Amino acid sequence: MRVAVVTAPEVVELRAEPAPSVGPDEVLVEVGACGLCTMERRLYLGEKRFYPVAPGHEVAGRVAGVGDAVAGLAGSPRVGDTVTVDLLTRCGTCASCRRGRSALCKRPQGGALSDGTVSFGAGLADSVVVKASQAYVTGRAPIEHAAMGEPVACVVHSLRLGGLRAGDRVAVIGAGYMGRLHLALARQAGAESVGMIDVSTGRLAEAEAAGAAWTASPGEAVERGGKQDLVFVTAGAPGALETAVSLCDDGGTVVLYGAFAKDLSVEVSPDAIHHHELSIIGVYSQEPEDWRRAAALIASGVLAADLDALVTARFALDDVAEALKLAATTPVYRVLVGGR
Ligand SMILES: [Zn+2]
Ligand SMILES: [Zn+2]
Repeated sequence: MRVAVVTAPEVVELRAEPAPSVGPDEVLVEVGACGLCTMERRLYLGEKRFYPVAPGHEVAGRVAGVGDAVAGLAGSPRVGDTVTVDLLTRCGTCASCRRGRSALCKRPQGGALSDGTVSFGAGLADSVVVKASQAYVTGRAPIEHAAMGEPVACVVHSLRLGGLRAGDRVAVIGAGYMGRLHLALARQAGAESVGMIDVSTGRLAEAEAAGAAWTASPGEAVERGGKQDLVFVTAGAPGALETAVSLCDDGGTVVLYGAFAKDLSVEVSPDAIHHHELSIIGVYSQEPEDWRRAAALIASGVLAADLDALVTARFALDDVAEALKLAATTPVYRVLVGGR
């Protein structure tokens, strides 16, 4: 089978890899589509230099083989099912995993191809093998939607830890792909209103078409949207945390979802946090219960229009170089690779 390997900045090749064998508790998945995320973009551009590497962690496909121990097991995927696949490895053994916080697993992630090349998912390939427990059935949902299982699970995690309840007033800073998924899922969860904040007027117009109750630049957010119960920061720009805190009503929560520069620090008022019972929390990655909910939401079709609007382009695996180039050089929502 073929697997895409990035060997240097802006250099990607398709390598031949032995067909993977399926262990007793694993499934073989023929990749139908794999989304290109920030990780793939950074590896391709050389912002993260780690070569050679086989990226691609947002995978969905069709189950083509099932291990003996899970074949016919109630609830486990069967041959022919469309699944969205969790390619992260969680050890179950470290302190975080034992506390039920497996998103923070302390064991290093990643595997290896047959020649030792480091794999961060290796989902830009004809097929992947994964534990059956990490493949979630997505029913009749289109493969493009199923391939959004990982980011949707991350946003489910974000809403869960943020404590979103129906009736909450919500603002989202950053109207890119992750911001738009927050918009879609917060609306689906019964938010009273979801406002979107961004510096790009183009993205704000698209967010409004997608159901944002109001849109604003960071400087106009409080005036436009008023005070909020929950503010999600999906774009970790300087000033974003301060904007989020200024938007929070009494008892409100700021959820830091997007990555910030490592050396950035900001001033916040401990007194304001105390007197107004504000919470500032970080969220990272996802956990199995988030995957289960994400797959169910995708399968149900309630997010179909939202997810359709976020598919920027889809390429065949042969054209992976072109796909990475598009994902890396242009502001896009999601570029998908595979199938066809
Ligand atoms: Zn991702
Ligand atoms: Zn662990």
